[in-house]
Amino acid sequence: MSDNAENRTILVTGSSRGIGRAIALRLARDGFDIAVHCRSNLAEAEKTAALIREAGRSARILSFDVCDRDAARRAIEDDIAAGGAYWGVVVNAGINRDGTMAAFSDDDWDSVLRTDLDGFYNVMKPCIMPMARKRRGRVVVMSSVSGIVGTRGQTNYSAAKAGLIGAAKALAMELASRGITVNAVAPGLIETDMITEENRERILPLIPMRRTGRPEEVAAAVAFLMSDAASYITRAVIPVAGGLV
Ligand code: NDP
Repeated sequence: MSDNAENRTILVTGSSRGIGRAIALRLARDGFDIAVHCRSNLAEAEKTAALIREAGRSARILSFDVCDRDAARRAIEDDIAAGGAYWGVVVNAGINRDGTMAAFSDDDWDSVLRTDLDGFYNVMKPCIMPMARKRRGRVVVMSSVSGIVGTRGQTNYSAAKAGLIGAAKALAMELASRGITVNAVAPGLIETDMITEENRERILPLIPMRRTGRPEEVAAAVAFLMSDAASYITRAVIPVAGGLV
């Protein structure tokens, strides 16, 4: 069996719910084994894992707070020691805490930067060298339209999501010669627990397609970037936003 066929596991952070779950299921249907991840919602992570197994692929669950560098390192190093280097990583776990900057608490700023931006470092750091040694692989980072355009009421989230685009592009440069692609996906307004009625009413009129997106529509872009067909695409940002950018 070739190395690729033997060990095509993809870690999808934040795959207990929402976009991450849709990505995990789509990748399982495309033939990948999945390392499902959540912060604390193990019941939902178990549901994702059960759906992956129904699709005929193997699933295991990692549970840690992406803000906790030591916990992330331990969990990922243990998982790689047991199952080998990941074929791919989808850095998807994230939160928002919206409000004007004037009205922010310090924690509104810190928690979003720690989760959405530091979380990228905390997850990717233990993944990189094992992938680089294999000289193949894929990384997809979940940014946002907010990180491209800057959104009122989201200085924290826009900063983190713009930072992720910079980090993904820089990492793409570092890993290109190792055969590892690194790209970002930038969703617009997608129907998950994250969006509020206020978001929907404010943003919907600005979307040329006049509708919100489905998690499966984001998953389709990630699945393409993970596929063999996307082998020459790196350092790119793909909006999935109904024309919002
Ligand atoms: P959800 O709120 O539906 O799901 C968030 C997921 O991230 C859950 O699996 C959650 O785990 C996990 N998570 C959150 N915080 C942490 C943490 N500190 N440590 C570990 N895991 C954590 O969000 P979405 O599916 O909507 O969002 C997924 C990604 O897509 C995010 O990065 C988001 O910023 C981005 N995005 C979403 C858009 C949208 O409109 N929905 C638009 C643009 C980007 P648990 O279940 O255990 O809490």
